[in-house]
This record gives sequence, structure tokens and C-alpha cells, in this order.
Amino acid sequence: MPENDANTSDKKKTIPEKSTILIVDDEQVARYTVEVLLSKEGYNLVFAENGEEALKKAEELVPDLMLLDVMMPGMDGFEVCQHLRANKRLGELPIVMITALDDRDSKLRGIKAGADDFMSKPFDRAELRARVRTITRLNRYRRLIETEEQLAYLANYDTLTDLPNRSLLMERMRQALDRASRTHQNVAILVLGLDNFQIVNDTLGHEEGDQMLCEVAQRLTQTVSTMGATVARLSGDEFVVMFDTDNLVKDVSKVVQSLLEKISLQMKIDNQEMVITASIGISTYPTDGSEVSLLLKNADTAMSRAKGAGKNTYQFFTAKMNEAALERLILENQLRKVLINNELRLYYQPQIELKSGHLIGMEALVRWQHPELGLISPIKFVPVAEEIGLIIDIGKWVLQTACQQNQEWQRAGFPPIRVSVNVSSRQFQPRNLLETIKEILINSELNPIYLELELTESLLIEEEGDNENNILALLTELRSMGVQIAIDDFGTGYSSLSYLKRFPVTTLKIDRSFVQDICTDENDAAITTAIIAMAHSLRLSIVAEGVETSEQVAFLRDKQCEIIQGYYFSRPLPVKEMTQILEKVTKQPIYLMKNQTEKFSSL
Ligand code: C2E
Ligand code: MG
Ligand code: MG
Repeated sequence: MPENDANTSDKKKTIPEKSTILIVDDEQVARYTVEVLLSKEGYNLVFAENGEEALKKAEELVPDLMLLDVMMPGMDGFEVCQHLRANKRLGELPIVMITALDDRDSKLRGIKAGADDFMSKPFDRAELRARVRTITRLNRYRRLIETEEQLAYLANYDTLTDLPNRSLLMERMRQALDRASRTHQNVAILVLGLDNFQIVNDTLGHEEGDQMLCEVAQRLTQTVSTMGATVARLSGDEFVVMFDTDNLVKDVSKVVQSLLEKISLQMKIDNQEMVITASIGISTYPTDGSEVSLLLKNADTAMSRAKGAGKNTYQFFTAKMNEAALERLILENQLRKVLINNELRLYYQPQIELKSGHLIGMEALVRWQHPELGLISPIKFVPVAEEIGLIIDIGKWVLQTACQQNQEWQRAGFPPIRVSVNVSSRQFQPRNLLETIKEILINSELNPIYLELELTESLLIEEEGDNENNILALLTELRSMGVQIAIDDFGTGYSSLSYLKRFPVTTLKIDRSFVQDICTDENDAAITTAIIAMAHSLRLSIVAEGVETSEQVAFLRDKQCEIIQGYYFSRPLPVKEMTQILEKVTKQPIYLMKNQTEKFSSL
């Protein structure tokens, strides 16, 4: 700290009005001559009689120029010059050496010692004045620039950590808010305060406290180095991290977690192992304010709340965001244990062939049986599982369970039907997936013709190059084994025909959003009609999802849609209830009443 203070005050020094010239000569007459020659030029003239005094005064005054006599008893001019050149603060001081007329030897030695220029006695009045004026002016100019640079630095940066200070932060925030309002993005402002820093400072000392602040500054910068974030020091032990985002809860939770983690790692200060934690408050633009100062204030309030909540944690300024972030965090953590805790359940939703009224298949739909929250929809947790990579294991469990269950039903003597399993794009690592499916089919002994995989359009469209070929090879191999391939949610994506021809697809599933309004919305009716016709011309089988009303059934029957799935017949059912349905259809295989506007009797 003391050293730093010295630097800071040094940097703040402004340039004095007059240039200071230090005249070093052991002869009084020589000193007097120079004084007379320069007296009217407006300099601050200072004198030294010998080498030692010269060094001392130079150190004290940091002059703009030194006129240095070569020949002096004791420490001579060369030695003084060498000393100065080796001095960090005075190394750049302009030195003009005074030699006897045409003393070449002295000049050579002077150059070696680091002199900038030479003049010989007796002085030429005009020459002395001109040289001194030029050198002092250049030196003042250089100092001015340095001072300006330093002032600009001091105005914008924190001298301890080299991070932007509050003023530069506010400028950058203004720019970020401007940008965000144009691009409709969010800006997250994280105010981070160290927990119990005062105690560290008091017990260890300020110097160690400063070291800790520098270490924290570095860790913050490293943690967010790839995301274009601004890291700044707000004051004492408070820092700010600011970044743009379009997925607030997800991005912020992630960043905050890693910041808290990184900071709390052990650090070595003066050979002592130390640990410090932080509390983080978060405000977001535009939700929590549209002005820089308000956003900072709100994040600061949230930070105080985080400290109040037990430290080493974070709080959003807005209660709603807090809940969302917490919910996601809990979800993510608990989801990781879902397989070990055996909390996944598979439900089965019947699929009915319209022409015959037969149950010809079922879609396996996963649910999470949460011990406190009850049954959680896949819409809520599948995207999270995809993000954290857990979908690979969950997907494998689903495939395995669906195949085993289907085989069990067949063994129990029910008429064989196929089971459709949703496969996420994230599961598509072709070689692994093929191995997994083969292994599952062998273990369950299910005939592959009773398995259908539901893929999304995006998988077949987004892949290019090698992976596209790998997927094509995988699907071709699966088809050759007898496995069926369906495109799920058809119509919501690109609905491109070309990939339907390229990949060996067997079934199209018309998305629920079209089916919903086929009886009321002309466009949806037209699109659905077109999709069905297209499927027929490509010899693909077609399933309508989300069928809820008899009017929809009538419309789809009229367009010769083959298979129907939806609440009209049945919701997705747990194993026990699906078994009951299978029992009923074994006894009476026609499910649909002749009068198609009524539900079939067995349901
Ligand atoms: P999806 O594959 O398109 O499944 C159809 C969804 O529509 C199911 O929602 C189903 O319950 C619902 N549904 C069926 N009939 C009707 C109806 O008549 N009306 C209405 N309003 N809804 C109906 P669910 O079970 O909530 O699943 C949602 C999505 O989660 C699925 O959409 C699928 O994309 C995904 N998913 C479900 N299980 C799995 C799985 O095991 N693995 C993967 N990767 N994703 C799954
Ligand atoms: Mg599906
Ligand atoms: Mg679907």
C-alpha cells in the first residue's frame, strides 16, 4: 500500500510553471556566469557545487535539465552522469556536459556515461540560451504528454487492480444499454462484494488485502474472458461484471456459479493459504431499470440481500427472477440424480388406425416422478437434460424401458404393436447410438419392426458433411433391421421435401399445432391436407398428433390420414392403465364406433 500511494501521488503530479535547471560546477565563477546568462529567461535555477550535492538535488527536484561540469574534485561529471542513468526516476533526465574547448576525450567518455549533449567553456551566450530553451521545451512537452496519459489512465482505471473504475464502467454500461435497446437483448449487471474482507484487511494488513483484491480481480477477468464481459472495480472490495445476454436466467446462473466457485478456491497470499467468498447481486436491463445508476443501485441492493442470506451466494434484484433461477438450479441438480433415484416413468399414448379402428401403436412419453413436486412434464426437464448432456443417459433408459415393456406385453399374449420412442438430436452420436439400439433390441428380444424412432426435422436438416453421411448410414442400417423412422412435429420446422427423399423415413407426424385448428383455420386445414397428400405420394405413413375432437377426426378421416393420436382416444397412460387397454382390445379389436363422431366403446 505505501509503495502504491507513492506511485499514485507521483502520477498525479502536475507540471510546474517554470522549468528547473540544475547547474553543477565546482567553480563559483562558472556558476555565476550561467546564472547571469540565463537569469532573464524565466527558469528556476538551482546550483550544486559537487557530484554528491548534484545527485541529492536531482533526486529532490527532478529538474528539466542538468548542466554538468566534467571536471570536479571528488565525484566527477562522468560518474554523476552514470549514477543518474542508472536511476529509475532520473534515467531520462536531459544532461548537457560542460567540457573544455575541443576536449574530444571528454566528449567520448561523456557519451559513454550517457550525456545527451555537450557545450564548452567559455560559453557562447546565444548558443547557451538557444540550447537550454530547446531542451527544456522538449522535456516539458514530453512531460505534458506523460501527464495527460497518466491522468486519462487515472480517470478511467483502478491503479491497484488495473481494472476499469466506476467512471469507465458507467461509460461502458451506457454503451451496452444503448446497444441492447437496439438489439432487444438483456444486459446483466453483477455487483460482487467480498465476504468479510474487512476482517482480512485488519488481521493480515493492507498490503496483503491489496494482494487479495488483485488476485480476485484476475480470477474474475479469467472466468468471463471468453464472453466479452466488462469487469470493473467499483470501490474497496466491490467489483462489477457486466455482459449482454439473450437468455438471462440460464446465462446468469451459469456465470454466477462459476464466479462464486473460482473466487472461493484457495489462494496464496504471502505464503499463507487463504480462502475468501463473495456475494453477488444481479440487476438486469431492461427489467430492473433503464438507467445506469439505477441498475447499479439495484444490483447493490440485491448484493446486500445475498450477504444477508448467508453469503457465498447470489440474489436477483427481482423476486420473480430469483424464483426462476432457483427453480432452474434445483431442477438441474436434482435432475442429475434422476436415474440413480429411479424417478423416471414412461407413459404410453395409444395410436389408432382410422380405417380399421385398430390400436396399432403407442408413443412412449417420459415423465419425472419428483418426490415433492409430483409428475413433471418432459417439456420442463428434457431441454435442461439436453443442455447438460444428461439426455444421452435418459434417452437410453427410455429406449430400454420402452422396448422391454413392449416385449413384456407381447409375451403376455397381447397383439403385437409398435412403440414409438422420441430421440433427441443430442443423442445422435451415430456410432454410439447404433450400438445402444442394437444392444437394447438384443437384450429385450423385441422384434425391431415393433420399434419406431421419432426424430425431429432439424436433425436431418442441420447436419452437413460427414455427420450427415453418418446419420444417413445409421438410419439406413436401422431400416434394414426393420426399425421404423418417424419425423416428429412435422410442419413446425423447415418441412423440406428434399431430406424426406434423402433419408429412409417411414412416417410423418403432423404437429399438434396444425391439427388443433384444422376445423376453424383455413390455412391449417390447407397445410394439413397438403402434408397428408405429400406423405401419400412419398409412400409415407402419416400420424396426426393432438387430436381432441370428433370434428378433427372427421376432417382427418376425410383426408385419409391413417393414424390418429390424441386425447380424443386417450391421454398418455401409465403401464397399468395401458395394460387394461391392451386387455380390452384383445377381446374386441375394433375400437372406433361405426359412427365416427363417437368414441370407441372399449374406452
Ligand atoms: P411429442 O413427441 O410431440 O409428444 C406429443 C405430446 O403431445 C405429448 O406431450 C402428449 O402428451 C401431448 N399430447 C398428445 N395428445 C394430445 C392432445 O390431444 N392434446 C394435447 N393438448 N396434447 C396432447 P408430453 O408427453 O408432455 O411430451 C412433450 C414433448 O416432450 C414430446 O412431444 C417430446 O418432444 C418430448 N418428450 C417426451 N418424452 C420424451 C423422451 O423420452 N425423450 C425425448 N428426447 N423427448 C421426449
Ligand atoms: Mg414424439
Ligand atoms: Mg410431436
